[in-house]
Amino acid sequence: MPDAGRASIAVAAAGDGGQGAFAYCSQQYRVVFGAGTSARLGEETERLGIKRALVLTTSEQQDLGRQLGAGLGDRLAGLFAGARMHTPVEVTNEALGIVESHDIDGLVAIGGGSTVGLGKALSLRTGLPHIAMPTTYAGSEMTPILGETTNGIKTTQHSQDLVPDTVIYDVDLTVSLPPHISAASGLNAIAHAVEALYAPDANPLTSLMAEEGIAALARALPRIMTAPADPGARRDALYGAWLCGVCLGAVGMSLHHKLCHVLGGMFDLPHAETHAIVLPHAAAYNAAAAPEAMTRVARALHSANAPQGLFDLARQLALPRALSDIGMPEGAIARAAEMAVRNPYANPRLVDRAPIEQLIAAAWRGDAPVQH
Ligand code: NAD
Repeated sequence: MPDAGRASIAVAAAGDGGQGAFAYCSQQYRVVFGAGTSARLGEETERLGIKRALVLTTSEQQDLGRQLGAGLGDRLAGLFAGARMHTPVEVTNEALGIVESHDIDGLVAIGGGSTVGLGKALSLRTGLPHIAMPTTYAGSEMTPILGETTNGIKTTQHSQDLVPDTVIYDVDLTVSLPPHISAASGLNAIAHAVEALYAPDANPLTSLMAEEGIAALARALPRIMTAPADPGARRDALYGAWLCGVCLGAVGMSLHHKLCHVLGGMFDLPHAETHAIVLPHAAAYNAAAAPEAMTRVARALHSANAPQGLFDLARQLALPRALSDIGMPEGAIARAAEMAVRNPYANPRLVDRAPIEQLIAAAWRGDAPVQH
């Protein structure tokens, strides 16, 4: 039972085989998946009744936006290629001006989480239909979550209205994602699924998706490292990322995500790499309290032990192993532990200061995960 006197929340490791009671809430969206599916963009805009679409991209992906936008014919009203990381409100306002002055009646976001975030921010403000065409494994297109920044301060909101109406997963659009970015982005997606397996609101359906998502990414990512254009590997990775994104959007996240938010925020560490380094250690911390979740993770990884399997996968993908490698100062470990135990997210094991400091120290050194 949770101990109200401690700065932590413990919850039963739910989702353990779907034995207990559960609630499941589905979201409404349409998914079109497969190689070459961007050719169906015109058809999908028509289905939503869009007649004047604004295509959104980052500046790096504007050529792709132009190329795919051409497929819209008369339905293309314009391109806004200003999407940026963390959805700055000034960028949203600039795009909003274009939406209003050009009589736009639908949004097509082509890119990673940054571009999909802009699509969500615009759709929330205007009520316009939103088609997302993801090109990374971040998973934002499956979540009712939007993080926006105003003057460098990030705020997060939840609303079912944020989920895009249609998501076109065209495997071909992910082939250009460089292997090392694919690996980090894929491990980040796996982290959503691992935590979904022991989430307080885990349920049999998300647990099935989580295990399948981990398995698909774990078999795809090593192949992408050696053959980045392998269509089967790219298909598996995007399929896995979709499932992991559904998990992120459907159930609450725990210790691992809290640690990554704290460490990333305090030291401006790269988001996906931080996830890849911390995940085996967070899994080891929770392993004894969430045995069924660990069985599923291990099975998906074809490993005898879930935390070690996650560590081995990250090593195989040549991802950085240690927080010290990505810029976290050693002297900050105690302070980070202090921050990490404040306002903890629900977690299967009590979140205590001393073992959390040990966890962060082990991740800082790049040790193999150890269950304390
Ligand atoms: P990103 O969208 O910022 O893209 C990173 C860079 O890679 C950009 O320059 C982009 O143009 C480029 N790129 C994207 N796809 C490419 C491809 N296939 N080939 C070549 N280059 C490509 O990166 P991301 O990791 O997808 O998204 C990160 C953002 O998404 C963050 O702001 C994060 O907070 C947000 N996010 C939100 C949620 C949510 O649920 N709200 C979930 C995950 C991530």
